[in-house]
Amino acid sequence: MAIQSLEALIDAIPLAGKRVFVRADLNVPQKNGQIGDDSRIRASLPTLERLLAADARIILASHLGRPKGKRDPSLSLAPIAAAISKALEKRHPTKVHFVDDCIGEAVSAAVDRLPAGEILMLENLRFHAAETENDPEFAKALASLADIYVNDAFGTAHRAHASTAGMVPFVAEVAAGLLLQSELDALSSTLDPERPFVCFLGGAKVSDKLGVLEALIERADTIGVGGAMAYTFLASRGEPTGRSLVEPERLDDATRMLARAEERQCQLLLPIDHVVSRSLQEGAEAKVVSTIPEDFMGVDIGPQTAARYAEAAAQAHTILWNGPMGVFEIDAFARGTERLARAVAASDARTIVGGGDSLAAVNKVGVGAQIDHLSTGGGASLEFVQGLALPGVVALDRDQKPREKRTKGAP
Ligand code: ADP
Ligand code: MG
Repeated sequence: MAIQSLEALIDAIPLAGKRVFVRADLNVPQKNGQIGDDSRIRASLPTLERLLAADARIILASHLGRPKGKRDPSLSLAPIAAAISKALEKRHPTKVHFVDDCIGEAVSAAVDRLPAGEILMLENLRFHAAETENDPEFAKALASLADIYVNDAFGTAHRAHASTAGMVPFVAEVAAGLLLQSELDALSSTLDPERPFVCFLGGAKVSDKLGVLEALIERADTIGVGGAMAYTFLASRGEPTGRSLVEPERLDDATRMLARAEERQCQLLLPIDHVVSRSLQEGAEAKVVSTIPEDFMGVDIGPQTAARYAEAAAQAHTILWNGPMGVFEIDAFARGTERLARAVAASDARTIVGGGDSLAAVNKVGVGAQIDHLSTGGGASLEFVQGLALPGVVALDRDQKPREKRTKGAP
């Protein structure tokens, strides 16, 4: 695949004074008007700094939340512009201007006025339904703002939207941002992994991770299943699951996957003991069992399971982990996830952890710095790991003909 890196772009073209459209993923969680976890802001800084150092004029665009094509003041990017300005203060101080739309005359005028080495942040792209509809006129209007397009929004790369895919053919020069590039480099190692390749999958639902689990059964040597999804697997084998979260409509899928794993000699490990509770409340009584009683629900993997998974992590050469092993938000149900986080961090393997809650868990334990790659991508990471082509990545590849449909196979 021929995707130009940011460094190659900077080597090839003097960027001073050029209008560079940066599609970032600044979809940060907000609560009562305050920014929650700011990791997406921090992750977008290296590309911005690199372009500022090259004296480009940066047009910064993102979506925020799901405004469904309508203006929603609570989802304005204005506070994010202020946060970026603040975050850059100590690293590369510059002015971050804001304009309250993303296309139109006022926006073009603001771009014309933008000095080199400064940033103009556009308003939430999804205030226009045309963004998610990938409307060609809207895409052309966005493209008309820029000489160069840089995509750093890995978290949205699995969506064929105007700002991630539609506008790209209409801009003269394109490149992958540093964050997007690092995601592609790291996640590629799961497509042709150094073995043993050990995966841990957990989280709330089998249905969220069905696709990735199916793909990993074909590629992994060992998969440790935890979280609520483990109980659908146990139930499919006829084991008691009490009041655990089981997805009845996924039982057949679970049976099929267990059979396929056996056929392929992929070790699919399920919990052999459990932390169970009667409720999901902080302070609720918890106990360790090997068989889940009728009126209890499984809320974490038990200590023996955690030890077994930790052992698998220690033997791995490549580790991919997505989804917590239990309801880690509650302290008494967090031990399994914590134990696995420490084991993954301590492993000599190349380690990749993805998923919003999984990253939160790893950071809660304080071992984030010992993980080789923390993937901010969520759904995009899962699709990439499955081997699906991501529209936002395909669009950057100028050697490739645009695809009609997304196809399985190496991206
Ligand atoms: P990620 O964000 O890392 O992809 P998910 O969103 O798939 O992870 O899953 C995280 C959620 O799964 C957490 O909120 C956690 O509380 C929940 N969860 C994990 N184990 C269980 C369980 N046994 N029962 C109910 N919920 C669970
Ligand atoms: Mg989540």
